[in-house]
Amino acid sequence: MPERGRWLTDRGKVIDVHAHVTPQRFQEVVLAGDHWHGMTADDGELDNLVNRWKPERRIEEMDRIGVDVQVVSPTDVFYQYDREPETTARIAAECNEEVAEMVRDHPDRFMGLGTLPMQDIELAKAEMARAIEELGLIGFMINDHVNNLTYDHEVFDEFWAGIHELGAFILIHQFDPTVVTYRTRDYFLLNSIGNLVDRTLSFATLVYGGVMDKYPGLRVCLAHAGGYVPYALDRLDQGWEMWPGDRGKSRDRPSTYVDRFYYDTVTFTDRNLRFMVDVLGSDRIVFGTDWPAPMQVFGAVERLETTQVLSESEREDLLRGTAARIFQAK
Ligand SMILES: [Zn+2]
Repeated sequence: MPERGRWLTDRGKVIDVHAHVTPQRFQEVVLAGDHWHGMTADDGELDNLVNRWKPERRIEEMDRIGVDVQVVSPTDVFYQYDREPETTARIAAECNEEVAEMVRDHPDRFMGLGTLPMQDIELAKAEMARAIEELGLIGFMINDHVNNLTYDHEVFDEFWAGIHELGAFILIHQFDPTVVTYRTRDYFLLNSIGNLVDRTLSFATLVYGGVMDKYPGLRVCLAHAGGYVPYALDRLDQGWEMWPGDRGKSRDRPSTYVDRFYYDTVTFTDRNLRFMVDVLGSDRIVFGTDWPAPMQVFGAVERLETTQVLSESEREDLLRGTAARIFQAK
């Protein structure tokens, strides 16, 4: 018997906003020894055999761990922003079509995030419209930067305008290289530190660049618990106070923008979970696992159900309530 329902109550669904997929169409080609738009079997983390699972096997696992719905996003390796834009656009289109197929085949278990050719905003705008309006995806996962350009750059004005107009949900999620990669590639720090630094830069550049003020309706989720954002606000605010000439387009202290973003629950200790709820607010935090990455939060539903550091209303927000309000899911 599947364990679906073990954690499920009539309060709503547990929606995992941070869960990846390595498209089957990519795997079929590269595991046969061919290239897929220039990508090979070295891409896509296929050494993690869970990445090879088909949707039915994935759903069995979701049942086992108590996840009702995954918001599925192609694994970050499919960003491919440094390629010829037309090639990246083809990769994105195929990834997005596969995610859309998963959603069509299992509409009660999957929602879909696509990927976009971010180095060419015209191509990105065309694909974002197709993905939302024709394929039925709900948004996109994007890197913290596009070939080292951050999102305060004017080249992205049209991108944010398009996302706002479509009402698309954005999950910001790193890829190698992160900012730390330029200093060291040792000790996995490019991920265990760089990932969180990149997210903090994304928060700050979106705030200082005026993007969140220009589009107050944007729904942007900063993956991995917002990186160092909760801890960084203190000094960000002090910098804003002391250096008025460097406030960019921000209208107030960076800490006042905390509730313009969403954050997932990908943390590993009760201490950090409590801290992020204190600083960010439970109504801005959604459930996430980073499935099926080795750095996922194992037993994530059970952890939130049983932790002693959350009140009942906070627990409900993190497991179901905040996501239900974002996605209007019941
Ligand atoms: Zn991830």
